[in-house]
Amino acid sequence: IVTAETDKVEDSSSSSSKVGTELLCVVRAVLKKIKRRVLVGDKVVVGSIDWVDSRGMIENVFQRSSVISDPPVANVDRLLVLFSVEEPRLESFVLTRFLIEAESTGIPTTLALNKAELVDQQVLSDWDTRLRSWGYEPLFCSVDSKMGLDSLASVLRDQTTVIVGPSGVGKSSLINALRNKPNSQVEADNWFDPIMGSKWFEDQRVGKVSTRSGRGKHTTRNVSLLPLGGGGCLADTPGFSQPSLLKVTKQSLAQYFPEIRKMLGDNEPATCAFNDCLHVGEPGCIVKGDWERYPLYFQLLDEIRIREEFQLRTF
Ligand code: GDP
Ligand code: ZN
Repeated sequence: IVTAETDKVEDSSSSSSKVGTELLCVVRAVLKKIKRRVLVGDKVVVGSIDWVDSRGMIENVFQRSSVISDPPVANVDRLLVLFSVEEPRLESFVLTRFLIEAESTGIPTTLALNKAELVDQQVLSDWDTRLRSWGYEPLFCSVDSKMGLDSLASVLRDQTTVIVGPSGVGKSSLINALRNKPNSQVEADNWFDPIMGSKWFEDQRVGKVSTRSGRGKHTTRNVSLLPLGGGGCLADTPGFSQPSLLKVTKQSLAQYFPEIRKMLGDNEPATCAFNDCLHVGEPGCIVKGDWERYPLYFQLLDEIRIREEFQLRTF
């Protein structure tokens, strides 16, 4: 029995499945029977390996550190929330919705603003100040001018990342740019060459899986992981095209605002007078209203309240 420690398992539908040590795998029947779905990004145990035909069988799935559903990927280390400063113009409410959706997954999130070459330095600096007051440290980049792509690549290094954001901001362009971008000359030697293959796959301790995801009623989108220059992977399919916020409740919303977390003291329990304080002016509430996104917090709270009341009436 060979474990996934030495092998990369790759999609049966992928054109590159003959490269390196990729194995075309089937999922063991018992896993299907217990409805144990194998996701892209899963770390798995592979057995019954046929080295001649590069085939194997997924025997088991390791415990996941995280899982997201849009797109379906396991063991995501980072979400990259991508917006553009212009074309389309950055809108604080839309950005806030994406940030809340990202925060609600519990996965570390990086915010990057693309198309930075379209505006002057002052506009970037104003956004920088504003977003820092929200509790984020934005990275500015431009796929067109290549500005900031190095910093972005080093943030994503050795991690599995999913890019999320609205349409038109440059997600696909960025995925392509990063994919073709070795981090340095040394790493360039290990750079994955789709034609020749490379040492990159052999260096991976534990195989990452991309499975055929075109089957089954739960599957709506195809996703696979692209190797990045300096190690790590990037999902080729962006996520959260419409943040539904369906997993966010009235009570949990506050914890997804860094401004509120900070006012409550990041690690201490809430110190408002009421345990279930929603911070909308209750007596003894310590969350003040003197911050930019307070009205947006109100607006989202209303949206969630209406949804929750509707759900109560319906079920
Ligand atoms: P997606 O919908 O987020 O995947 O966005 P795309 O990658 O399809 O890009 C949308 C449009 O923005 C395309 O016309 C790109 O060429 C353009 N675009 C991408 N990055 C940049 C950039 O850095 N600057 C400018 N000016 N345009 C960009
Ligand atoms: Zn409060």
